[in-house]
Amino acid sequence: MTHVLVTGGAGYIGSHACKALKAAGYIPVTYDNLSTGWADAVKFGPFEEGDLRDRARLDDVFSTYDPAAVLHFGALSQVGESMHDPGLYWDNNVIGSLVLCQAALAAGCEKIVFSSTCATYGDHDNVVLDETSAQHPLNAYGASKRAIEDILNNFGVSHGLKHVIFRYFNVAGADQDAEIGEFHHPETHLVPLILDAISGKRDALTVFGTDYDTPDGTCIRDYVHVTDLVDAHVLGLKWLDSGRDNRVFNLGTGTGFSVREVAGQAEKTTGQTVPLVFGERRAGDCTKLVSGSERAQAELGWNPKKSTLDQMISDAWRWHQTGHYDK
Ligand code: UDP
Repeated sequence: MTHVLVTGGAGYIGSHACKALKAAGYIPVTYDNLSTGWADAVKFGPFEEGDLRDRARLDDVFSTYDPAAVLHFGALSQVGESMHDPGLYWDNNVIGSLVLCQAALAAGCEKIVFSSTCATYGDHDNVVLDETSAQHPLNAYGASKRAIEDILNNFGVSHGLKHVIFRYFNVAGADQDAEIGEFHHPETHLVPLILDAISGKRDALTVFGTDYDTPDGTCIRDYVHVTDLVDAHVLGLKWLDSGRDNRVFNLGTGTGFSVREVAGQAEKTTGQTVPLVFGERRAGDCTKLVSGSERAQAELGWNPKKSTLDQMISDAWRWHQTGHYDK
């Protein structure tokens, strides 16, 4: 069976990717420094603890498993944190990815599927984005991911490293078997924070800004179910396996929801009240990030099946109620 190296495989999206890879017949090898991930989320293949900036450790792991490809999720991903400490993002995300690409090439592994982000686009007045939209990130997180895209483009031209880049919109939901789900410490993402507010793990959800240029004044995002998102990665791997060209795909649904709308849907889905307080804008937040996925659907055959707000919240809620990681 074929090994695939999954950086960040102990994290939210990476662990779901490992499950999907295993179901597709690959052996996912998780490489993760556990800075934001969880060892007990690694359930679907071997675990190698290590940092992306540790070239010797990476060389060792490449030589042990001889992976056919890398799925690169490992990164810091908080917009707010990236504005307080941009150096952390350039060091961990950009340097880590550079070392990873160099180690992969040295080991003869020439395929990488990379998790990029809609945060590379920045604000575009009320348009639905596509892969050709200009990239003007408003925060250091998005800037670090755009820089990694540049590394991949340069290494593609000069060293033959083949890539698929996925620019994600907002990811939510959980595995249908509730074996794995979303948990960060501290938690900063909207859906788990809403569920924490519902279950009393926190007093309320603070809505970051009510004076944006949107119908209800709160930011609009495009939410994709984590299971649909990782399905795209398996298709991305097959794209590279079949010798196709380097390609960028947006993974969105084409429909945006405001923070108030997500909270409203959570009340409907769970039948409980979401206590809200209204706060200041968060530095680095874009007003609206929404994308279609015509390219991924037409070229990859991606077919998102679970990306309704109701399904994402109900799967996340089921996971939340298992009490996993409820420390
Ligand atoms: N948000 C919020 N309160 C919170 C966390 C997030 O109002 O406590 C908003 C945030 O401003 C953004 C949306 O929810 O508009 C999604 O934020 P998240 O951090 O989940 O993802 P991001 O869009 O930053 O990747």
